[in-house]
Amino acid sequence: MKNSQFNTSFYYNNKWVLYNSLNNNFILLEPMVYELYEAASNENKLPEIANYHEELYDILIENGLIIKNNIDEVQLVKDLRDKIDLNEDHYHLTINPTMNCNFKCWYCYESHIKNSKLDDVNLKRITSFIDQKTSSGIKAFTVSWFGGEPLLYYKKNVLPILKYTHEKCKERDIKLSCTFTTNGYLINEEMIKDFKRYGVSGFQITLDGNEEEHNKVRYVHKNKGSYTEILANIFKLCESGFHVSLRINYTKDKLDTVHDIYNDVLLLKTSARKNMKIDFQRVWQTEDTQESRDKVLSLMSKFSTEGFKVSSVISNVDYVRNSCYADKKNHATINYDGNVFKCTARDFEGKNREGVLKSNGNIEWNQKYYDRLDAKFKNKPCLSCRLLPICNGGCSQQALEHSKEYCMYDFDEERKTEVIRNKFILMLNNIEVD
Ligand code: SF4
Ligand code: SF4
Repeated sequence: MKNSQFNTSFYYNNKWVLYNSLNNNFILLEPMVYELYEAASNENKLPEIANYHEELYDILIENGLIIKNNIDEVQLVKDLRDKIDLNEDHYHLTINPTMNCNFKCWYCYESHIKNSKLDDVNLKRITSFIDQKTSSGIKAFTVSWFGGEPLLYYKKNVLPILKYTHEKCKERDIKLSCTFTTNGYLINEEMIKDFKRYGVSGFQITLDGNEEEHNKVRYVHKNKGSYTEILANIFKLCESGFHVSLRINYTKDKLDTVHDIYNDVLLLKTSARKNMKIDFQRVWQTEDTQESRDKVLSLMSKFSTEGFKVSSVISNVDYVRNSCYADKKNHATINYDGNVFKCTARDFEGKNREGVLKSNGNIEWNQKYYDRLDAKFKNKPCLSCRLLPICNGGCSQQALEHSKEYCMYDFDEERKTEVIRNKFILMLNNIEVD
């Protein structure tokens, strides 16, 4: 028997916490019991634990902390990744119907293109694509609307595709999931009726801090912000049964203003709170500190206690089981101009495209797509790392953008342990991070 490569242990509140990142389970040991395990490990006599403490031995095996010598653990992670990322039962289509937006947030990485929208030719190509995919034997189909602001030319660009997809999925008995990443300002009653009718399930909507901070970033004009209108629309959606992921973009300095958002969302009916997930996202151009991470954890606990779901980047280190859509074979991001991409966090410039949507509704992928699918397990340090089953070098975009060996945590073993400690604290606080 040997110790799994994927074990992490740390001391917490007078106990030892053991975690295996492949099994994704924690166990707690009294210090004396841990010492027994540690001594057997150091002397390479793991099976002897059974002679002193049979129950401990069984628990260590059950939780994958000690395994048979001949197990190739990296292969297990490769198999897991293939099962998830090469799954053929599900197709995920992201559509950017426009690159235009009604706001101009300073951090927005996309360049707005005025009057950009789907023309009739590309609209037709998208419906042909949907027709093909929904007749290819898949069991589930996801459509994510992105942009730009996807609701900007709603009637011309979005509604016809919503109707078509709903009809095809119903006809072919395919589970449809349809979500919008929107700023939430343009949502109205008529749209909400359509969303119900055509199987829309969820929304991701962002606030940039409390009312004052948000309105400095997202405003209609100098004297008119958008916080009140957006929050009212979020409430309407949650009360109508839609899931809303309320993304709070924070910088270290603005975290304290989140308490105001907390007070504002408490006005939502208790029964609708389960439909709202508060998702903390640090603006990526800003500094990440332990102090702000602790504040986020404590805020998450506060929202969770009031019946909201919560999530954050610090809790979501799970790039294998919960890999990004862009890492998956069965995913495409179709832009309004017919160019096809994968990652939605980079420019949608023609030179970055990974494919083109053809007139028959097929995607002609280029080499970039195949390179992306083959990007995992190429970074040598990951192959011997204890976090491989939950990190794996991050997403495919990160893997592609590194030409040299790299580590998401700068090869700092303490930081890696901190990732696991944060997971543990969230679990202890019963924070549902879905
Ligand atoms: S940067 Fe990575 S996680 Fe983000 S959309 Fe791109 S591939 Fe996905
Ligand atoms: S990026 Fe770093 S932490 Fe992640 S799997 Fe690779 S070596 Fe481990």
